[in-house]
Parts: sequence; structure tokens; C-alpha cells
Amino acid sequence: MAGIVCSILRADLAIVKSDASALPKFYSDRMNFFNQLMTTAKPFSLELLAQAKVHSESLRALVARHPKHLTAVIAAVLLGGGGGAFAVANLGPDASNLPVRMLVENLETPNLEAQVAILEQQTLKLYRNDVTRGSDTAESLLRRLGLVDSAAATYIRQTPEARQALLNRSGRNVSVEANEQQQLLTLTTRWLKSDSDTQFQRMVITRGADNQFSVRTDTAPLTASVRMAGGTVASSLYDASDEARLPETITRQLADVFSGQIDFHRALRKGAVFSVVYETLEAEGEPLRTGRLLSAEITNDKKTYNAVWFQEPGQKGAYYTLSGDSLRRAFLASPMPYSRRTSGFGMREHPILQIQRAHLGVDYAAPIGTPVISVADGVVTESSFNGAYGNMVVIQHNARQSTVYAHLSRMNVKRGQSIKQGEVVGAVGTTGLSTGPHLHFEFRINGRHVDPLTLAHQGSAEPISSAQRSQFNQRAQHARTQLMAAAQMRQGNVQ
Ligand SMILES: [Zn+2]
Repeated sequence: MAGIVCSILRADLAIVKSDASALPKFYSDRMNFFNQLMTTAKPFSLELLAQAKVHSESLRALVARHPKHLTAVIAAVLLGGGGGAFAVANLGPDASNLPVRMLVENLETPNLEAQVAILEQQTLKLYRNDVTRGSDTAESLLRRLGLVDSAAATYIRQTPEARQALLNRSGRNVSVEANEQQQLLTLTTRWLKSDSDTQFQRMVITRGADNQFSVRTDTAPLTASVRMAGGTVASSLYDASDEARLPETITRQLADVFSGQIDFHRALRKGAVFSVVYETLEAEGEPLRTGRLLSAEITNDKKTYNAVWFQEPGQKGAYYTLSGDSLRRAFLASPMPYSRRTSGFGMREHPILQIQRAHLGVDYAAPIGTPVISVADGVVTESSFNGAYGNMVVIQHNARQSTVYAHLSRMNVKRGQSIKQGEVVGAVGTTGLSTGPHLHFEFRINGRHVDPLTLAHQGSAEPISSAQRSQFNQRAQHARTQLMAAAQMRQGNVQ
């Protein structure tokens, strides 16, 4: 089924492509993206493509059965934020919500026959891509790319430039164009020399008219592009992010941005939805580096939180709510950073929690060694072994408020030392009276235990300065529009 869908995607893209001259500039601007999509979609078999293109009836039927996949691609392109990967697999907005209806209907008009005829003449070239593996030989790489071409393999092996770019390295995206005999026509790979590079390197191997191969490597500037995605939480934010093909660094930024509002370990609910807009640096449409989270929105437990990155030239940027309050809070909502490693524990019923429901703190089940952080600035007033609490750290944040971190396997701080919000105080353990690895956490006001969930509401939010207000409002309005588009994509996913 995946193969068929891919073929259909290709067929659709080819139709659109063949019609490029007739498309308004809005679409033709995005032809590069289509091309990229064609090289990033999964390899498909020639047979499937043939089925799809020759039997227009079956194409029509398949299109009818999978309209969302087509919509997904086109919508992502229209919104200008789609990446090949997530556009193909994930972003399937409801056609009625987006200006993509027309294109989708195009496919179902009687003209389809004619367009399929054009397509038949135009699919002599096959596009595929894959990712290099450390163990690759020239043969194994080409085989994965669906090529049967020993001359190309020999060329790669014997040409230092090609060998260095493709072999003994993993994770490099390689795209090829092949003829119907599965022979290599061109092979392209792009990479960054260093993380701070603003240029990317590009190596292209080409088969000439004389059947001889040639290679060239050049550089070109990276382009910044804005992407959007959205997801619905079924088990954890990380699972939902994987589903939405969100880069891990963006998921981390998302959890971090809302760490003063939401305890992702305890308070994230099944069905929570999020939308994100972020920047990537791309080489001809291929994302090579993930940038900053630009705006985000998350609705959890019927409450909606949003964030937008705002930075004036020459000044330090920060995240604000769309109404202009700083997202930085005096207290973090959770004493453990939300990570892939800890994310799986949050939604499980915790046996210790059940037994000790009456106890005066919150238990966070997590693997031994998971870092434990101070939820606010303060001074360490205790860092020692303390009976049932095991290794315990107490931090006094102000005259009234303190926090307790217990059962630690390791304590990183000393009594009397001052500590900043987010600084590591120790690591999760199971010392003292504990039936399994977990952090016992308490929040005390004037020595009395308080539900730490109230932490998220401690301290007020700084509003943006009045000097920055009008600039900020513009930025926030823009963010609102983008988040709405991202939310529509997400809604399309679940329909
Ligand atoms: Zn406890």
C-alpha cells in the first residue's frame, strides 16, 4: 500500500509538473520543492508506476481512495512550509479547510486522460533517494537506490572525490536519477562542512552522452525556510513528535519553552494537541540543519498555551505568549527536564504513587541517573543522607518557599551554595525508603507541603516593554496565522 501511494504521489506530482507553465507563479515558485519531494519520496517499483500511469482508471480509483495523501503534499507546498518527509507521510489537512481543493479536483477532471498521456511520455527518468550507511560499499549503496549499474559502482570506488563523499559515512542523503534500465544518470549528495557553515557542499556525479561519468563538487548558500507541523499526544510528546516527523531538537525546544507552564511528566494528557513553526536551513530543499522554534501552541487539559520567539536586531531574544507576556517564570513546573528518556514514564500509573497517595510530595518515576534540576533560583540548605528520604537536597528559594529532592543516587550540590533555576542538583536514584528508581519531590510554603502543580502559577510574568510593543504585535499576528495553518494540517491528520 505504501508503494502504491508513493506511485500515486509521483504520478500526481508529474502531472502537476508537466503543467508547470500553465500554473500561476504561486505554484511554479514551488516547483523546486516538488522536485525535491520527488527525490525524497520512497523508492517505488517500476511496475507500480506503470500500473498507476497506464491504467488511468486505476489511477482515478487510487486517487479517489487516497485523496488525503495528495492533498497533504499539495497543501504543504501551498503553505510553503512543507518538508518532503512530513508532507508525504503526515500532513493531510482537510481539503475543505485549505485552498487545495482546486488542485485535487483537477486530478479528477476528464482532462486526466490527457495528462496521463503526457505523464506516460515523461516518466522515463526515475528518482530515488536513500541515506548512506557507515558500512556501505559502492555496490550496496547503489543497490539500495534501486540501481543495477556496475560501471557506476566502479566509478564511485575508483574516484576519491566520490568515495569520500559517499562511503564510510552514515546519514548523508543521496538522490539519484535513473533511466528505465536502472542505470545511474545523476547522483547528488549535499552536506555541511561544519555546524556553523552558511554554505553547503554539493557533489554531483553525471553520466555523459558518451556514457562516461564525471564528478564535480561545489558550494552554495543555505537558505532559511520556515516549516510547520502539528501532532496529537497519544502516549508522550516524543511519540507524537516522531509521528509528526518533528526534529528532536524542536521537540526539546517545545518542552523547554513551556517548562514554566506545563509539567510534561505529570500533567500532559492524552489528546493534548500541539502546533509548531520552526526554521530549517536547507540546501535546495533538503533540510541540513534545524534552527529555532519560532512559535508554538499546545492545548492540554482544555488549556491553551502559546509562545512566540521575539528578538529585536542587536538584542537578546526571548519567548513570549502571543499577548506579550514573557514565558520565563520564577519556577519550573517540573524538577526533571522532559526528555525522550523520561517521557515514557509520565503517563504510566506509578505503583509507588498508588501506595503512597497520601504522602506529601510527588513521585516521578525515571531511570536511575536521570538529571534532577532546581525548579528555581535559591540556596542549598541541605544536601545529605536523611533516613527514609535517602540522599536529599533542600533548596530555599525565598523567605517562604523551598523545594525537596529525595532518593537521589547522586548529589551535585553542597549546603550553602547558591543555585540557578535549571541547574542540576543531582540524579534520580532509589536511596532511602524507596521501592524503585524515582524522584520524590516536595514543594513547601512556610514549611507546609503544597501541591507542586501550583508551581506553574507561582510568580508573575513580565510583559514585553512598551517600546517593543508595536513590533511585537506584528510578529505575534504573523505567528498566529502560521500556527493556524499548522493546526489545520494537524486536524487533517486525524480525519
Ligand atoms: Zn514520594
